[in-house]
Amino acid sequence: MSDSPVPSVETITGPIGDPGATLMHEHIFGLSPEILWNWPDIPEGWDLEARAHEAAAKLNDLKRHGIDTVVDLTVVGLGRYVPAVQRVAELTEVNIVVATGLYTYDALPPYFGNRGPGSLFGGADRLAEFFVRDITEGIGRTGVKAGVLKCATDHLGMTANCERVFRAVAEAHLETGVPISTHSHSASGGGLEQQKLLARLGVDLSRVVIGHAGDATDVTYLEELIANGSYLGMDRFGIETISSFENRVAIVAELAARGHADRMVLSHDSYCFNDRFDADVVRRRHPNYHLLHISRDVLPELRRRGVTSEQIDLMLIANPRQILARREPYREAGHDHR
Ligand SMILES: [Zn+2]
Repeated sequence: MSDSPVPSVETITGPIGDPGATLMHEHIFGLSPEILWNWPDIPEGWDLEARAHEAAAKLNDLKRHGIDTVVDLTVVGLGRYVPAVQRVAELTEVNIVVATGLYTYDALPPYFGNRGPGSLFGGADRLAEFFVRDITEGIGRTGVKAGVLKCATDHLGMTANCERVFRAVAEAHLETGVPISTHSHSASGGGLEQQKLLARLGVDLSRVVIGHAGDATDVTYLEELIANGSYLGMDRFGIETISSFENRVAIVAELAARGHADRMVLSHDSYCFNDRFDADVVRRRHPNYHLLHISRDVLPELRRRGVTSEQIDLMLIANPRQILARREPYREAGHDHR
C-alpha cells in the first residue's frame, strides 16, 4: 500500500519503469470462443501459434516505427484470452498492458446477468470481485495482472446493466487505484454521462480516459470533458467511416492549439487478429485501420498543422505514463491532488 518512489507500470511480463511511447487503446486478439468451439473450420479460425507469430510481427514492425508499449483493452465481452497474449509477449519487445472490466452496450453475459442485485436468482454481484482479483492476483491462472479497468456505454446510453458494470469498475478502481478507460459514444455526448456517474461514485476524473472522444468534432463537448478533469482518447485513427482522417487530425490539432495536449492520448483501436472482421473487407473499407497509421500518417500531418514535438511527446509518452503509473489508492481524506 505504500507509494512507490519510481513510476511503475504493470505489463503482461511484470512491472516496468518507463513504458515509453504508448498507444493507449489497441487489441491483440478479439475472439469468439463459442463460435470457435462449434465452427472451428471457419477461415477466421484460431491457431494460437500462427496467430501469435502474426501478431508479434505486427508489433515488432510497430517497434521499428517508434512505439514501445500498447495497452490491450480486450476484456470479457470482446474475447479476452491472456495465455495467447502471453505467447505474443514472448515473441515481441513491445510491452503489452492488459485490462480487466467488461465490454457491453447493455446485456450482461448470463453468468453475471442471472445473479446479483435485481436479477432473477439474486445473490452476490461478482463483477467487482473478479475485477479486483484480475488486478491483485492475476487473470485466470496466468498470474498476469491487469493494469487498466475498462467499461463501456454506446448509443443506448447508461442502461441499468452498463451502470452495474460502471459501479463495479469504480469499486475496483477505488480499492486498487488502477486507472479507468472507457468506450464512449461521442455522437450522443456519452462521455459526460460516464463522468457524471463515475464522479458520483467517488472516482477522481483525472484518473479516467474517456475513450473514443476523438470520434467527436465538437470542441465545446470535448473541452467540457477536459474541464471535468479526464483525459481524451483520440483513439480510433483509421476508422474513417465514423470520422474521417481530416476530422480526426483537425480536432487533435485544434485541441493542442488550445493548450490541451496534456489531456489527450492517441491510438487506433485496432486488432492484430479479430475473428469478427472479414479482414479483406476491412482492408478495403478502412485502408488505414492498422497499427502503423499514427506513426506513418497521423504524426507527420499533426506536425504539418503546427503541433509541436513537445505536444506529441505529451500525448504519446508523458500522458500515458502518468495515467498508467498513477496507482496510489484513495485515502480517507478524499482525493489526492496532482
Ligand atoms: Zn477497443
